[in-house]
Formats: sequence, structure tokens, C-alpha cells
Amino acid sequence: MGYDYVRAETVNQALRAKASMGQSARFMAGGTDVMVLYRAGRLQFKSIISLRRVAELNQIKQYPDHIFLGAGVTLDQVLESPLLKKELPSLVEAVATMGCTQMRNLATVGGNVMSAVSSADTIPVLLSLGAQVRLASLDTDHLLDLDGFFTGPRATKAKAEELLMGFVIPINQGKAVAFSKLGRRKSLDLAVVNLAVWLSLDEKGRTVEKARISAGAVGPTPLMLKQAARALRGHQADKPLSGDILEAALADTLPWDDIRASAWYRRQVLKVLLQRTVLSAIKRAQTPPGAREAGK
Ligand SMILES: Cc1cc2nc3c(=O)[nH]c(=O)nc-3n(C[C@H](O)[C@H](O)[C@H](O)COP(=O)(O)OP(=O)(O)OC[C@H]3O[C@@H](n4cnc5c(N)ncnc54)[C@H](O)[C@@H]3O)c2cc1C
Repeated sequence: MGYDYVRAETVNQALRAKASMGQSARFMAGGTDVMVLYRAGRLQFKSIISLRRVAELNQIKQYPDHIFLGAGVTLDQVLESPLLKKELPSLVEAVATMGCTQMRNLATVGGNVMSAVSSADTIPVLLSLGAQVRLASLDTDHLLDLDGFFTGPRATKAKAEELLMGFVIPINQGKAVAFSKLGRRKSLDLAVVNLAVWLSLDEKGRTVEKARISAGAVGPTPLMLKQAARALRGHQADKPLSGDILEAALADTLPWDDIRASAWYRRQVLKVLLQRTVLSAIKRAQTPPGAREAGK
């Protein structure tokens, strides 16, 4: 069975099309998730509303205290943006681990987040940065915290008629971030576990003052590891993480066995990634702000 294809040129056209076609229509950005599911018979729809030509969704804008990242920004655009390399290096690190060249040309950050799968690589980063999503329908335009947005596997708080416009991402002066992922192969692969850290050190750069930690593929949705973040406060920057911090990280997770990895293996990987990612963030926090770009 085929489907109708609507090519929206503006947000308004996309929203009108969705309002008139209702549940049987699906938004499509890069199509690297939605079309794979459709061809595999795991998703049905009568119409596709393509967002690829909607320029309003494609913007990256800097404000004094945040960056607005449009939902339609492609993974390639993220990798090529000097602004994102400077201000959001953990997002660039996450995107650099994703898929292959052809896929990164098409796939978008908005599509990755709205796919709402537990292993989606940009989600832990955006959660650790304290991002909000901006959602619009013909009647509303509002912000929601990303923390709490995911209600289950492939499910979010977005209403059926709502379009994701983009993300409001605080720019955290004086704070440092990092991302790590373990997949089964080096590229083209979904995460066995992924993890993102945001932290700040005290004035002398010796002790962790505040932290946010988020991980994917260790529960039904990407998770905030709040107990580990609390346990990390007061951690001395030159010491390895204590067993208590590592155990606290496991306390918020609910890993499962599947063909990619066992629950036991995911727990071990989570602990290794936590050590590694906190260390990277600490190193970055101890580096002068001008030299903190992705990959450094
Ligand atoms: C070969 C391959 C490798 C991959 N590797 C990775 C990987 O390493 N890491 C990873 O996390 N994922 C990976 N993926 C999964 C997928 O490509 C990503 O999740 C990608 O970012 C999805 O973006 P998209 O623009 O193609 O989304 P689409 O397929 O267009 O859409 C995905 C979902 O989001 C919805 N949607 C899209 N835009 C909006 C919007 N603006 N408002 C509301 N809803 C919207 C769609 O309706 C759909 O439900 C891979 C996929 C393939 C095929």
C-alpha cells in the first residue's frame, strides 16, 4: 500500500496539513528512521508531510544565554558549525559517532529526539545540558523541559498535532561537558550504552560542584542519572570515581537483555563510560574556555 506525500515549504503549511490529515499523517525530516520503520512494516501511515524544505526549522541562532537549534538541523550541519563546536562540544561529539556520511546528510537532530528511542545519541547530551523543546501547533507555541519529555519507548509528551520547532539549549559559561558511547562497531551502529556529562568545578578547579549526567540504552527511555549526579558533588577532580558514585549510577537504570548486549554487560559499560566521561569533562573544565572545542 502506498502513501500520499506532502512537501511543506513553511511551518504553517506543515501544521495545516497535519491538522487536516490527523493521526494518519506523519511528519518526516530526514526519513532515516521513519522510512526504515515503514519499509520494515513496523509503522503505518496514509500520508507523509516532508519537512525537508522548511527553512525555518533549519536555523542555529545564538542568544546571550542560550542557543536555539532548529529541529531540522542535519547532523552534518552540527558537525560543520563553528558555533556548536565552541559552545556545545558534547553535542558535536555525539553526532560524530552517529551513522555514516549518507545518513548524516539527511538525518536531523529533531528526528533523532522525536524517534524517542532509548539509544538515540543526541538525547543524553541535550538532557545533560538542561535543554527545552519548543513545540508548535496551529493554536499553541510552548516550551517543555526535555527532562520528563519521554514517556516510554518511542513515546513523548508532544501532542499528535504538534511540530517540534527546535531546542533551547542554555550556554553554560564556566561549565564543561563530555559524551561517550559504546556501540558494537565503530560507526553505523546504535549505542550499547551512551552517556553525557555536564559539570562545574570549584574556583580552584579541584572539586566537582554541580553535575548533570544522562545515559541512553540503560532503560526504556534516555535517563537522567540523578543519584550519580548528587554523589559526584564534592568529588575530587584528581581521583578516580568512588565505588559509591558508580553504584549510584546503576541505581537509576533498568537495563535489559537483547541481541545487542546483556543487561549485565550494559551495567559494566555504564560504569566504564561514567569514569571516562567525567574525566573528559573535568579535563575540559580545567582548560581555559577558549580552548574547549569538541575533540580537545
Ligand atoms: C544506517 C543508519 C545508522 C543510524 N545510526 C544511528 C546512530 O548512530 N545513532 C542514533 O541515535 N541513531 C541512528 N540512526 C537512527 C536515525 O537515523 C536517527 O535517529 C536520525 O537522527 C533520525 O533523524 P531523521 O531526520 O531521519 O528522522 P525521521 O526519520 O524523519 O523522523 C523520526 C521521527 O521523528 C518525527 N519527526 C521528525 N521531525 C519532526 C519534527 N520537527 N516535529 C515532530 N516530529 C518530527 C517523525 O515523525 C518520526 O517519528 C541510524 C539510522 C540508520 C538508517
